[in-house]
Amino acid sequence: MKILHTSIECYPIAKVGGLADVVGSLPKYQNSIEVEASVILPFYDNAYTKQQQFKDLYTGSILMNDVEYPYTIRELISVNIGFPLYLVYIEGLLDRANVYGYEDDVKQYIAFQLVVLDWNIHTTEVPDVIHCHDYHTGLIPFLLQHATPYESIATIPTVLTIHNAQYQGWMSYDYLKYLPSFNHDVIGLLDWDHQINPLAAAIKCADRVTTVSPSYMKELQRNANGLESLLSHEQAKCVGILNGIDKETWNPNTDPMMVKNYTVRTVTSGRKENKKWLCNHFNLDVEKPLFGFIGRLVGEKGAELLPEIIESAIEKLAINILILGSGNTDTEQRLEGLKERYKGSYNAHIGYDEKLSHILYSGVDFLLMPSRVEPCGLNQMYALRYGLIPIVRRIGGLKDTIIDIGDDGFGICHDQVSVYDVVHSIERGLTLYTNQKEFKRIQQYIMSLDYSWEKSAQQYLNEYESLTQTHTNG
Ligand code: ADP
Repeated sequence: MKILHTSIECYPIAKVGGLADVVGSLPKYQNSIEVEASVILPFYDNAYTKQQQFKDLYTGSILMNDVEYPYTIRELISVNIGFPLYLVYIEGLLDRANVYGYEDDVKQYIAFQLVVLDWNIHTTEVPDVIHCHDYHTGLIPFLLQHATPYESIATIPTVLTIHNAQYQGWMSYDYLKYLPSFNHDVIGLLDWDHQINPLAAAIKCADRVTTVSPSYMKELQRNANGLESLLSHEQAKCVGILNGIDKETWNPNTDPMMVKNYTVRTVTSGRKENKKWLCNHFNLDVEKPLFGFIGRLVGEKGAELLPEIIESAIEKLAINILILGSGNTDTEQRLEGLKERYKGSYNAHIGYDEKLSHILYSGVDFLLMPSRVEPCGLNQMYALRYGLIPIVRRIGGLKDTIIDIGDDGFGICHDQVSVYDVVHSIERGLTLYTNQKEFKRIQQYIMSLDYSWEKSAQQYLNEYESLTQTHTNG
């Protein structure tokens, strides 16, 4: 069973958030069962790719708005990341340093999708299923089925995984001229609220729609940034499959990014060394419990509450707080602004830093995740693997993975996105921290939990199999 994953993020080539971690690890686990999974991604001219070697596999060209764009498919050959990785290079368009942030991104995403399809009509290695991730690749199911140039591959089944339904890729009908000719009787499939909506188009056209946790699947019927009725209507082909984590990359015993490695047995001494490093580096008191936040500073993560949480918690409790994140400028400035006032108890690194995130996972005592929306959330699973106790809002994947200590579980949960709820949870964390024996018992217990990909990779395989059988029979 050959699966081609299409995405614009993939760890370690291009990572902004969880999408990269999933696309960079699921195929590796799929390749250990009866699946031959590969990934196709735009080419990025960044620090990682500069150090790698590629083999040019295929050259061709696509037409957008009557302009011809030559492209090259490059295969990564200098390192084995667990699956074949193909990068689409188009000079001036798919050769940028960053994943996001370009004015012509709609053109970039359309070009990428056209190349994926064009390459598939020319290659002999046609996949059994094309698996699209998020709206950036959401036009593929529609184009595959209805655009004239791709008739020869129109029956390949497609799967859409929604990692985040907030972003849908809305575009005006002016962009129609960038698409190849298609049967205009079905133009409505592209539409949602009088705009082209690639995520909506993919939900309508993909043979299967998955989300990254079962709870998020249910929540989307009530809260999907305008697509609630569509998702309810398409319910029969939707399924929630919980993400897993890459146990090799995220292994506290071998992680090269940490200050000190440790195992379940040496968790206390190992985590202490990492915490010491963090406290020295960020001028914090190593004797106090350390609460951390890692993530995008956006409303979905409840990040705009962080300044008030810091003020309220540090004013009344003997704790430290450390933030690693970037995003909303106002939140970034407010977090920067609090540094001087709470010197010695609070600090923040505003920016993206993969290595530092690993040190936080291995040295912070509690991880704050006051999310408004959390499709799956990987941070809490990395936290468990590293013996870091998560404090989460009961939503989406957080609800599916974390059980409160009050219910014989191993995390701290709250229901509302409010400063009061989070500070109350921090107080509960502080109480747990004062009972070091119980604190250690939970740390050791959570490190033994298994949130790896094995089970979910099998669930994806079941979905692929049901689709290929339907297509063969039908
Ligand atoms: P999302 O994809 O919504 O941002 P996830 O929890 O699925 O959230 O994944 C977030 C991933 O990005 C995790 O691997 C987390 O460690 C990482 N991450 C987020 N912000 C930063 C940052 N500022 N520096 C380093 N890693 C970060």
